[in-house]
Amino acid sequence: MNHTVDLKDKKLFMLDMDGTIYLGSRLFEGTRPFLETARENGARCIFLTNNSSKSTKDYIEKLRKMGIECGADDVFTSVQASAIYLESNHKGMKVYAAGTKAMLEELLEMGINATAQPDGTEEVVLQGFDTELEYRKVEAACRLIDNGAIFLACNIDKVCPVEDGYIPDCGSICRMIESATGKAPHFIGKPEASMIEGVLKKEGIRAEDAVMVGDRLYTDIACGVNANVDTVLLLSGETSLNDLEGSGIVPTYIMKDIAQLGYEIRKV
Ligand SMILES: [Mg+2]
Repeated sequence: MNHTVDLKDKKLFMLDMDGTIYLGSRLFEGTRPFLETARENGARCIFLTNNSSKSTKDYIEKLRKMGIECGADDVFTSVQASAIYLESNHKGMKVYAAGTKAMLEELLEMGINATAQPDGTEEVVLQGFDTELEYRKVEAACRLIDNGAIFLACNIDKVCPVEDGYIPDCGSICRMIESATGKAPHFIGKPEASMIEGVLKKEGIRAEDAVMVGDRLYTDIACGVNANVDTVLLLSGETSLNDLEGSGIVPTYIMKDIAQLGYEIRKV
């Protein structure tokens, strides 16, 4: 890991959301001071999420309600990463968007030849975190994959945390399809390097000038490691110090929460 650029001099902070800047619907006290300090330092902050059920607009709305002003360029989702991946690897191909309406709209806005009504000629199946899942969608995905379509998925998460526990996520839906077809998808969101590489490409920023901040080792921190950017693990969400022991995933920095990170990057 090239540790050449000090945290204070980073030009881009990529921030996970849940467990990092807020918990559920409660913004952490240190989030706004951190964002202010980063701005004073001239650094960009981009919010990164694996959640492929909601659109960028949904997230902008949620953040604004919490008092964080942001625009479309400040939020990066696994659906956007998927669109960039499709553009780079399967340009122009017909895509079955197996996911929510929000996911389909976002793909279409990004110029992807996507449909939610497959006719059997689609060359790619892109599975998302489909909170509007129906049996016919799973059936269509399996048929296409059986006939040779490329199987991609927006995010690997098996479950999505909610206030009273969890709900099944994209990774679990993919397991069902894998069980039927015998084929596993290529996952695109965190921890795949392509998620961060997509942001770096979009922003024109070098890996050494960026840092990934998050609360999960196997998605956020692993993603930073895979993309060769420095990482900050915050202990305000899913990970405790005990989890770090025996984990092969090593963050560059470990901090209590976003308030501490804000303090650490302050140039006095
Ligand atoms: Mg998180």
